[in-house]
Amino acid sequence: RTVYVNGEYLPETEAKVSIFDRAFLMADGVYEVTSVLDGKLIDFDGHAVRLERSLLELDMGVPLSRDALLEIHRELVRRNDVVDGMIYLQITRGAAADRDFVFPDPEEVPQTVVLFTQSKPGMADSPAAKTGMRVISIEDQRWGRRDIKTVQLLYPSMGKMMAKKAGVDDAWLVENGYVTEGTSNNAYFIKGNTIVTRALSSDILHGITRAAVLRFAREAQMTVEERNFTIEEAQQGDEAFITSASTFVMPVVEIDGVTLGDGKPGPKALRLREIYLEESRKAAI
Ligand code: PMP
Repeated sequence: RTVYVNGEYLPETEAKVSIFDRAFLMADGVYEVTSVLDGKLIDFDGHAVRLERSLLELDMGVPLSRDALLEIHRELVRRNDVVDGMIYLQITRGAAADRDFVFPDPEEVPQTVVLFTQSKPGMADSPAAKTGMRVISIEDQRWGRRDIKTVQLLYPSMGKMMAKKAGVDDAWLVENGYVTEGTSNNAYFIKGNTIVTRALSSDILHGITRAAVLRFAREAQMTVEERNFTIEEAQQGDEAFITSASTFVMPVVEIDGVTLGDGKPGPKALRLREIYLEESRKAAI
């Protein structure tokens, strides 16, 4: 696989980052994951805008223009013959001369920029979309700036392990009695013609897929309520689902052992998945 590191395209075995890199020592970095379908980028602009926001919120500069970033994404897709899959991008505050909590002077320490591809042939036909996912709820113990997409993923990773140990697919995070989001996705339930999902704030990541799916839902005459909801309320829903760049729209059929509806992916969630895939493919660049 060919990867990108600080201006160079290299075989992955030759790509290197310093042990003093602040992302390695302090999780001082941000990332984005963009999907590729039929060799084209899904929602690239949305991811680029969110990346810039994450960088600015952490007082990091924006090292590459949007055009330059797009070109690197496209070049990696070309060089690795990616048909369906993902592009992972990470930008860190760079490698200072020593370990220090204080941010280094950006004039002296350049940021680290890394991108690599992950091929996932046929990812849009995921079998999980046909069976639906089962989730458990766990306490949300992440920090308070979840709107910044940092590489601090230890708690989400522990959440996935808790789900795995419980024999299910993922975990929904609950804070003060209300669902924030999934470990790596936004969470929703549907009751009647209404989709309910947590409102945007620093409590959740502002999902790029979320924005698109809510737009399509409104265009399909569904009502969208962006508000707090509990696990109990979601369990009483007709359907539930999650969204993320890598899973698109994925139905949820069980929450904390309670089966939703007949235990099969709901028709509205599946329809939203179809619309999302169709529209995203059309708009892909
Ligand atoms: N919430 C969290 C915590 C996430 O990690 C992700 C995916 N990275 C999302 C939501 C979904 O965001 P997007 O649709 O932009 O992938």
